[in-house]
Amino acid sequence: MKNNNYADLEAALKIDCEKCSGLCCVALYCMKTDGFPENKQAGVPCKHLMPDFCCDIHAQLANKKMKGCLAYDCFGAGQKVTQSGYVNVNWKTNPEKANEIFRVFRIVFQLHQMAWYLLEAASLNTDKRIGAEVEVLIAQNSQMTALAPAEILQMDITNYQIGVNQVLKKVSNQLAADSFDKMERQDYFGKNFKRANLNGRNFSMALMIAANLEGCSLTGTNFLGADLRDANIKNTDLRGSLFLTQMQINAAQGNAKTKLPPNLSSPISWQSR
Ligand code: SF4
Ligand code: SF4
Repeated sequence: MKNNNYADLEAALKIDCEKCSGLCCVALYCMKTDGFPENKQAGVPCKHLMPDFCCDIHAQLANKKMKGCLAYDCFGAGQKVTQSGYVNVNWKTNPEKANEIFRVFRIVFQLHQMAWYLLEAASLNTDKRIGAEVEVLIAQNSQMTALAPAEILQMDITNYQIGVNQVLKKVSNQLAADSFDKMERQDYFGKNFKRANLNGRNFSMALMIAANLEGCSLTGTNFLGADLRDANIKNTDLRGSLFLTQMQINAAQGNAKTKLPPNLSSPISWQSR
């Protein structure tokens, strides 16, 4: 991201599993068909989660095709809740607090996800009025995530979410050739776009599972909320694409020649492809 005013917030949105009590592996509902080891209810620890909150099959997740585990990214909500909301308390040592911790985690996840998009919006060239709206929303976001767990649980973030969605629409409309508002949820399942010029296209919320984007031109292309599971982005330059997340990248198929925006990392497995 280009705007350095938010370096601390940007860092806080990167996952740091070593500082977390394995929240995603307990708090979330998982389905085997989505690439998790088993079907499990929210609040039940995964059978592979060890007492030290590490995964006992971490090194084998790729071989075992655990795509759900490999793709998941909490935008830093896990370590945030573990480290600042519940110092010396966790769901295992304090089971009476477990449900509360999981609820706080889910709310902070949503706030961090919105912060991720807002940071990207702040780094883009929009008009001053929209830029100011983005700044206000980022400041509100930081205030909300700094609250104590009891206050976080009392918050109604619906109006805030509406405000974020509206400003992201404005940003998208200003930057992309396609209008955000006129778009329906598009289905590009398996579509072959190979080497197409898709500059400025709006794929926000599109289903792009297994779509072939190899070698496409993707400057200003909006991927906000697009489902990129198994999309082919090998040999593809996404440095100018908009609103990508680490979870989308982790779920797609890239290689050592895939170029990503600076706020995103290449999965290790891509280096050998
Ligand atoms: S919740 Fe986030 S930080 Fe915690 S283990 Fe999961 S991905 Fe890592
Ligand atoms: S397999 Fe590992 S990473 Fe996946 S949910 Fe279980 S403990 Fe978490």
